[in-house]
Amino acid sequence: MDYRSIHRRSIDDRDAFWAEEARRIHWNTPFERVLDYSRPPFARWFIGGTTNLCHNAIDRWLPTQADRPALIYVSTETDEERTFTFAELHREVQRMAASMTSLGVGRGDRVLLYMPMIPEATFAMLACARIGAIHSVVFGGFASVSLASRIEDAAPTLIVSADGGSRGGKVVPYKPLLDEAIRLSAHKPGKVLMVDRRLAPFEPVAGRDEDYATLRAKHLDAQVPVTWLESNETSYILYTSGTTGRPKGVQRDVGGYAVALAASMKHIFCGNPGETYFCTSDIGWVVGHSYIVYGPLIGGMATILYEGTPLRPDPGILWQLVERYKATVMFSAPTAIRVLKKQDPSWLTKYDLSSLRALFLAGEPLDEPTSKWIADAIGRPIVDNYWQTETGWPILTVAHGIEKTPTRIGSPGMPMYGYDVRLLDERTGAEIGANEKGVVAIVPPLPPGCMQTVWGDDKRFVDTYFKSIPDRLVYSTFDWGIRDDDGYYFILGRTDDVINVAGHRLGTREIEESISSHPAVAECAVVGVADSLKGQVAVAFAVLKDPSIAATQDARLKLEGAVMAVVDKQLGAVARPARVHFVGLLPKTRSGKVLRRSIQAVCEGRDPGDLTTIEDPQALEALKQTMKA
Ligand code: ATP
Ligand code: MG
Repeated sequence: MDYRSIHRRSIDDRDAFWAEEARRIHWNTPFERVLDYSRPPFARWFIGGTTNLCHNAIDRWLPTQADRPALIYVSTETDEERTFTFAELHREVQRMAASMTSLGVGRGDRVLLYMPMIPEATFAMLACARIGAIHSVVFGGFASVSLASRIEDAAPTLIVSADGGSRGGKVVPYKPLLDEAIRLSAHKPGKVLMVDRRLAPFEPVAGRDEDYATLRAKHLDAQVPVTWLESNETSYILYTSGTTGRPKGVQRDVGGYAVALAASMKHIFCGNPGETYFCTSDIGWVVGHSYIVYGPLIGGMATILYEGTPLRPDPGILWQLVERYKATVMFSAPTAIRVLKKQDPSWLTKYDLSSLRALFLAGEPLDEPTSKWIADAIGRPIVDNYWQTETGWPILTVAHGIEKTPTRIGSPGMPMYGYDVRLLDERTGAEIGANEKGVVAIVPPLPPGCMQTVWGDDKRFVDTYFKSIPDRLVYSTFDWGIRDDDGYYFILGRTDDVINVAGHRLGTREIEESISSHPAVAECAVVGVADSLKGQVAVAFAVLKDPSIAATQDARLKLEGAVMAVVDKQLGAVARPARVHFVGLLPKTRSGKVLRRSIQAVCEGRDPGDLTTIEDPQALEALKQTMKA
């Protein structure tokens, strides 16, 4: 079937389209109406229908594949490897659900998860879904201050945590950070449920901390029936990555999300029941929610939960797992691929990857050199996909389950069914034609699976997302893009990353793309810096594949000139960065996104702002030093 006409139909005949997609999941009671859009921009999907995410992820598959793998846990940190079948997962989730219930958790209560990538984290998410509690997973890499603000905002009844995690072979204790966060937060949870991995010894807080092993033992035979939820009840809260400032608590529903994920498994990821899905993200991010936990299981697939880095025990580990578990779908991030790019490429050809239909990448712009490099190295199709925590599933990509639309390098693809995407002039709100730059916007109602609102703050939802374009109630992605004549979109960077050099508006992404094409460059970031003459100039920071080639001042200057020459040739002299600095590391969020906002602030001598989500504060410090040199 022709994809474009299906997309058209999903917009023009919206209710009929989604009513059909809704058949992909199990409803306990059918919905009365597909959509209630009486209070724009708030959309309510599948009114009156009752369903449950956990039922769709587990129980529904028991009659046909109880003994097939559901959750495959691999830890290269603790050298553990364990497979849970659907029947075993069903049992573990009920043990967890019964334990939570015994601690007083009920429907609508919040349960905050601060956990490493261990099976219990998945059990806890699914247990919440089962009993109608609202989970809020906070990435395990966050420290006390970030965690405290999320505890305060979500006000959980219960926190589920562990003694510690491990990264690159080093134990990371969680408990002291959690205790400190609870101390900092005005809201105090009634109970803390601790999974003790015996990695990091800790002192339980009497009367508050409960040991999971002890509780689980009391509930070994627990049978916890599914709580049927109205489609629009809340399934979870998840905070955005905080690349651009204070994170927003994205609130998601039950029915719309289940339908959106089931549809995406079929149309976008082409995964079938009985196969294996391998997503290298973390359960603390939206990609982990949708495509480690819920999507694959709702699609009847086994899912790999991987605790470890892409480099240990060696840079072949991801591909070794693909081979061992015959993964048919893999999902990762450009930032992980750029890490591999600095390693010997022979690691990528050591394993049999023939099971793999495609490698999906999302989270950051996929630059052309990285895209080509990984495609050549693994010999499998690469599918870029663009979306946000807010949307829960891809906005732009190619739907190979519908039509084998060719991919175009540098472009994540075209609007997915259900998304009425427009490019708009951010000053006038006017629609922009092909080959012109504008803000990527979505005409509401947002499709099923997207955020319902900002947790506890409807006003912030409307004001943040729907008021930035003059005179129109449209959802802004705050990303800047361009569409070619065939309808392929290209993301040029975030709207606040647009640089205005002597009247020319340039996306930082365009310049970064050009710099990355220099063979010595592994990755780079470009920011606009205030300039009295030109308004703004571009300043670039590049990480070299082999830093030793820029060891001397002479070599650095020569290389800087060579990089500038590449930009001149590809984009013209207006885009040429005023400076190209070579650094060892770029400041990134914990989710692997470059913190251009903070780099820019440092370049302009301002305060770098909210750094709670930064991966390595040293990176910013080193960058300051490089600029002084
Ligand atoms: P915050 O909203 O708190 O500042 P964030 O936007 O980084 O954080 P996410 O929701 O994790 O939080 O990231 C979504 C953003 O990531 C998109 O708006 C876009 O800027 C970028 N992005 C995601 N996928 C792609 C992609 N395939 N190509 C280009 N950019 C992408
Ligand atoms: Mg964002």
